[in-house]
Amino acid sequence: MTQGYGLPVFSGVAIGNAVVYRKAERVLPVSSGDANLEKAKFETARETAREQLTALYEKAKVEIGEEQAAIIEVQMLMLDDLDYLDAVEAAIADGAAAALAALDCGEEFAEVFAAMDDEYMKARSADIRDMSHRIYDILCGNTGFQLPEGKFLLVAEDLAPSETIQLPRERILAFLTRQGSSSSHTAILARTLNIPSLVQSDIPLELAENCEVLAVDGFTGTWYADPDAETMEMLLKKQAEDNANRQALEAYRGKESVTKSGKKILLCANIGCPEDAEAAVKADAEGVGLMRSEFLYLGRDNLPTEEELFEAYKKVAQIMGERPVVIRTLDIGADKQVSYMGLEQEENPALGLRGLRICLTREEIFRPQLRAIYRASAYGNLSVMFPMVASVWELKAAKALCYRIRQELESEGIPTKEVPIGVMVETPAAAVLAHELAKEAAFFSVGTNDLTQYTLAVDRQNAKLDKFYDPYHPALMALLAHIAKSANENGIWAGICGELGADPKMTETFLKMGFTELSMAAGRVLELRKLVCESEV
Ligand code: PEP
Ligand code: MG
Repeated sequence: MTQGYGLPVFSGVAIGNAVVYRKAERVLPVSSGDANLEKAKFETARETAREQLTALYEKAKVEIGEEQAAIIEVQMLMLDDLDYLDAVEAAIADGAAAALAALDCGEEFAEVFAAMDDEYMKARSADIRDMSHRIYDILCGNTGFQLPEGKFLLVAEDLAPSETIQLPRERILAFLTRQGSSSSHTAILARTLNIPSLVQSDIPLELAENCEVLAVDGFTGTWYADPDAETMEMLLKKQAEDNANRQALEAYRGKESVTKSGKKILLCANIGCPEDAEAAVKADAEGVGLMRSEFLYLGRDNLPTEEELFEAYKKVAQIMGERPVVIRTLDIGADKQVSYMGLEQEENPALGLRGLRICLTREEIFRPQLRAIYRASAYGNLSVMFPMVASVWELKAAKALCYRIRQELESEGIPTKEVPIGVMVETPAAAVLAHELAKEAAFFSVGTNDLTQYTLAVDRQNAKLDKFYDPYHPALMALLAHIAKSANENGIWAGICGELGADPKMTETFLKMGFTELSMAAGRVLELRKLVCESEV
């Protein structure tokens, strides 16, 4: 048995097979100089792409439905597009390597489609790009991360949000990363999935790769490779106790979250995709307090279309029914990067073009998202909020665009509902100006993860600074009290959707401050409901 430690980000015990995630490396092959050989390579890759797409189509049909899976069918048809095939052949005849010919011709065709007037044809541009990137990846030897069957503990050096989004969540028993901080998105995902996980763990990847059994104790932050009989017995006992505790919380399922003095608190879930909304309902969440929209933009090669966004929001609205859903608009930037938006590399991305700043600078990105939200509003109880607001003018500008978009949709005969517009309070400026913003906003939701980072000037991604990243800092508490007071004085509600919202040590304090909504990983709702019901506030 070998053991080591990490920083636990969610409690519980997991025991099983370890799978090591390694980042794909792309090696661009140069042309062999033989056009016939390059053509043969392209043909083989095209057939592999067909096999991959067929398997993906079958999986998508089951998981997201036949209508959505049709996108993959379109890509399969494009593999046989004669114009594309002729263009690739010509490029190869001109001396291009098969991989580059596949990619460049795909790019040219994608641009032609993107310039078309017809919305349907425009949207096909993304499919061509996806299809040609697939052939390119195959030719570069990048077959993607291959997962084994069954459930496993995932071990990695680090995981970017765009990588976690592609993982089969239902099969992951635990995350163990060698890097990452307690407020990184891997940690947030672990909490969303309710799985014991460690960041900054000292587990060697080779050891994880070669052990028979890996176990993680999320209570103490310990990992064990091939645990001995005594350790195994201790872990199984802990696991059983944890299950029993979770079982006891079931008494709170279906109950209202009301304090002893009758104060109603809304306990909501943080989600990233429609699948999470289903988990939120199962966990008895009373709504969605934060939908991290950017997850619809990560893990892909192109901007999602208005139609795709609409379908995702509509699905969430329908799953949640009467329950309120707060959609946060795109929060790309800092740790959540996408390649296709053409954003420049920044010296200091956490202070760079991120969140609402991108949306107010690039209306062509913001507009389809807002249209999708307003279109989906007809199907449920949606609100919208903006991330990274620092000034009142930003909120006013974003609100003005919302109104214009609603009018535009109405004039197109598309039904919409009123969508309350709130502010995600996560910059010190917004917190200090809460009494001003409260006059313009329908609600506040505090992002304590970023508010801690910016107030204390501590990079939330920097594992070495964890001991300085103190969300209980008195400066934070003063800001939180001011936010809640400003909201109450102006007759709007205030909630907390950052990780601190689920901290049981803070529930009583937050209720006393006047917060009436807490949004968290769905699996925490029953535990917090118990605290709310026992509170005298
Ligand atoms: C926050 O900053 O607290 C928050 C909830 O948003 P994110 O973690 O996605 O930045
Ligand atoms: Mg944030």
